[in-house]
Amino acid sequence: MSHKPLHIVVLSRNRSLYSTRRLVETIENRGSRATVLDHLKCDIVIEQDNPSIYYKGELIDDVDAVIPRIGASVTFYGASVVRQFEMMGVPTAVESQALVRSRDKLRSLQVLARSDVGMPKTVFTNYSKEVAKIIDSVGGAPLIVKLLEGTQGYGVVLAPTKKAAESIIDAFHSMKARVIVQEFIKEAKGADIRAFVINNKVVGAMKRQGKEGEFRSNLHQGGTGELIKLSKRERQVALTAAKVMGLSIAGVDLLQSERGPLVLEVNSSPGLEGIEKTTNQDIASDIITYVENLVEKGKSKKKSPKNKKSNA
Ligand code: ADP
Repeated sequence: MSHKPLHIVVLSRNRSLYSTRRLVETIENRGSRATVLDHLKCDIVIEQDNPSIYYKGELIDDVDAVIPRIGASVTFYGASVVRQFEMMGVPTAVESQALVRSRDKLRSLQVLARSDVGMPKTVFTNYSKEVAKIIDSVGGAPLIVKLLEGTQGYGVVLAPTKKAAESIIDAFHSMKARVIVQEFIKEAKGADIRAFVINNKVVGAMKRQGKEGEFRSNLHQGGTGELIKLSKRERQVALTAAKVMGLSIAGVDLLQSERGPLVLEVNSSPGLEGIEKTTNQDIASDIITYVENLVEKGKSKKKSPKNKKSNA
């Protein structure tokens, strides 16, 4: 390796997770040092011109880069820790702002809708009483109702009829749960595509198929993955989606529809297990190469006096 040994922090709550293990072993195989920090155990110390992080009472310093692997339920604190590393001038594989943005399904769709990528028609309301009109505006039933902050397919419901849709939406609203109502893309036939993007390149893609009778293709819901070659348009859409979300590393989920690929979601901590096992690609190595290059770029920037201070 042409790179000098680095010290790379992986922010992860559990070092035995497949993705965390793969990143750590890849860093170590390249002669660098890996430290796994549970972001929930990091203390952020704010002081003028001297931002720092303590882990179980010990100062964390000499870090060359961070790789955030932040779970959806701890986005707020995890993103704060990432932001603190940014304040300390440490390059991060995922920027804190992009991380926060990607976790809000509605905000993500709003940002994506400004670009030329397609998406299922979606409505969000502040517990509107006009449920029938909302249903009509996405083309009627069947339709999809999604909890705004669900993951891994939990909180995604297919309402087969208008009646069912009305009661599901009413039920969520009465629980004060925020939902989006979305056009159901029937022709996707319970499958979706996961494109793994690193630094403006698709490094692996798979098609996930939901188990028999299931419209959700999530592997956590019993779906299975198979290797797929993306069409030119699918590749283009995946790259654009990652770019407009400000993510250099992203798992872009697409539905194949009659009007071309539609973006469903852009994931900022995409899992490595499914994609590596399905594609037989060493995605962890691609991530570490990207991070090594980030550090190199950061060093050459620091040498230039114009870039003394970075901003958030
Ligand atoms: P999560 O973030 O919980 O995985 P998703 O929005 O990705 O939620 O939905 C889970 C799965 O449900 C998707 O992978 C896809 O297979 C299916 N799905 C979601 N939205 C639609 C839709 N509008 N039309 C058809 N299938 C959908």
